[in-house]
Amino acid sequence: MSLRLSLTDRCNLRCRYCMPEEEYVWLPRTSILTFEEIQRLVGIFASLGVTKVRLTGGEPLLRHDVPALVEMLARQERLADLALTTNGMLLAAQAADLRAAGLHRVTVSLDTLRPDRFEAYTRSKRHGDVLAGIAAARAAGFRKLKVNTVVVRGYNEDELADLIEFGRANDAEVRFIEYMDVGGATRWSMDQVVSRREMLEALARRYGPAQPLSRGAPGAAPAEEFALPDGTTFGIIASTTAPFCRACDRSRITADGTWYLCLYAESGISLRDELRAGATDEDIAEVIADAWMGRADRGAEERLEVIGRGALYDVPSLRADPHREMHTRGG
Ligand code: SAM
Repeated sequence: MSLRLSLTDRCNLRCRYCMPEEEYVWLPRTSILTFEEIQRLVGIFASLGVTKVRLTGGEPLLRHDVPALVEMLARQERLADLALTTNGMLLAAQAADLRAAGLHRVTVSLDTLRPDRFEAYTRSKRHGDVLAGIAAARAAGFRKLKVNTVVVRGYNEDELADLIEFGRANDAEVRFIEYMDVGGATRWSMDQVVSRREMLEALARRYGPAQPLSRGAPGAAPAEEFALPDGTTFGIIASTTAPFCRACDRSRITADGTWYLCLYAESGISLRDELRAGATDEDIAEVIADAWMGRADRGAEERLEVIGRGALYDVPSLRADPHREMHTRGG
């Protein structure tokens, strides 16, 4: 199992496919896990064999002093891969501290290279801060940087090759993500989804056909890896048109300690309640192991079977339970 750990449900961008509304219902502050609680939970997951943890959000770097948390988690020797997914806005100032604290890898979300498009899609003029964040991460010594790009028809589907070139110039691998119908994607429709097939066709027109690379250990990564004729590699995450539920090894903890076995799951298990009720590590490990062994979720595959598929939730039901939001679940 790999773990995605959301540090906050707050974000400093308002991406149209994720947080398009003006107002949100936030998780109550007192419910947010402390660093010590996070460290304890990660220790319990690690004792059950989890070696990969990714910090996410909301925007994880909005949380005060993330390097201090990284340092606490990096002490956990069983963690072979401690990574961060960020929109990059606050990365420039923190990259060196994160690296020094023991963070292994960074993924930066970057959907467009054009500041005007960035502003239209995120309601922020600070596109340059994201680019500066990527540069700072490289300068801090992070290798194998990844860039996540959600491809949305009518927005950025004409930038795939430009993003590949950007990745090449910045020693980063780009992963193109199919637009998903989860959480805040309340204006989602199938016709805005640019499928893996279309992405490969567009890149083939520019570079010649890309070759699929073998996927390594089953379930190791949701991204399928491809290589262009010149050897440049990139990934595609085809969760919408070609879901990979059987190979998925991810689970997610929201900032308030609710554990979800699937991005699409209707409900989760409150590990915060266990922690705060005085459960022992062994009690909590048992809750986790039982739930994981009984896991039958295949949310993305079930969505594929829905005829006339639209957004998963409407705005009132997201307001009724903010746990349903993508920015709460951590993407
Ligand atoms: N704020 C951080 C960031 O931007 O990377 C971390 C959280 S964000 C929810 C994690 C990832 O989910 C980002 O790469 C984002 O682009 C992606 N995401 C959000 N909504 C999505 C959607 N509807 N379909 C596909 N990916 C989505």
